[in-house]
Amino acid sequence: MAARELVVLGTASQAPTRTRNHNGYLLRWDGRGFLFDPGEGTQRQMLLAGVPSSAVHRVLLSHFHGDHCLGLPGVVQRMSLDGVAHPVAAHYPASGQVFFDRLRHATPFADLAEIREEPVTGPGRLAEDPAGVLEVRRLEHPIETYGYRLVEPDGRRMLPDRLAAAGVTGPDVGRLQREGALRVGETTVRLDDVSEHRRGQRFAFVMDTRMCDGVAALADGADLLVIESTFLAEDAVLAHRYGHLTARQAARVAAQAGVRRLVLTHFSQRYPDPRAFEEEARAEFDGDLVVAADLQRVPVPPRADAPGG
Ligand SMILES: [Zn+2]
Repeated sequence: MAARELVVLGTASQAPTRTRNHNGYLLRWDGRGFLFDPGEGTQRQMLLAGVPSSAVHRVLLSHFHGDHCLGLPGVVQRMSLDGVAHPVAAHYPASGQVFFDRLRHATPFADLAEIREEPVTGPGRLAEDPAGVLEVRRLEHPIETYGYRLVEPDGRRMLPDRLAAAGVTGPDVGRLQREGALRVGETTVRLDDVSEHRRGQRFAFVMDTRMCDGVAALADGADLLVIESTFLAEDAVLAHRYGHLTARQAARVAAQAGVRRLVLTHFSQRYPDPRAFEEEARAEFDGDLVVAADLQRVPVPPRADAPGG
């Protein structure tokens, strides 16, 4: 199991089908869990995917249409049933507080889990998580909708051959990382001498929107982009009218943003064959392309500048 991966819980827009559950996505990132847009049936999809409720540390809703939030009552109640011991932050458009309240308290239950409400009031920095900085951007849909982005801070990669040449070994490596410089005999070894810049990884989540500036800002430089492609280009007029993207638009923005691995999802039930999404996207995007299926696991790609790939 990869330390950083997307667990696809559902891929249907609007209404589930025989092969696709309502939306739902869990991002696992070094032991942290981000549950995005839990549509109806998410609790059971988590079971089928082998993901316990305790794996979730934050729940993030793009907006309050049912395919993005009707699973919240089941997930919240399951967290209480399972005795999840850590607090769980909940992010959602602040204008939908009344809907959040209904879902959060949909039916009576032993309400034990600690759900911390942290509504989104506008674009910018949302929260600092051990996994990185969470940012939000406004999207364009008939109701208030936000996209999310996780940005791991840049860091330093230690270079073993230079460490050895400088005579830094054992616990001194950790000390050098913490303190930035270290005295070895008569000389001072600086962190910069024995390490190199390591770019932080980025994950972006873009649901229900027509093309707008927020889409490009979220996708910019993403290692893994999860993006709605409700329609095919032949129905671009419908996509624009209802505030959605086509596969072609999603792939084009991914190409322009330098995305490394692209996950298309949130498909309309009007298209029975998912290969059409792949063909359309392929014409625009030549990176890794995944047309998401329920219960699929998609690793965050290895660091682009990592030694050996
Ligand atoms: Zn939707």
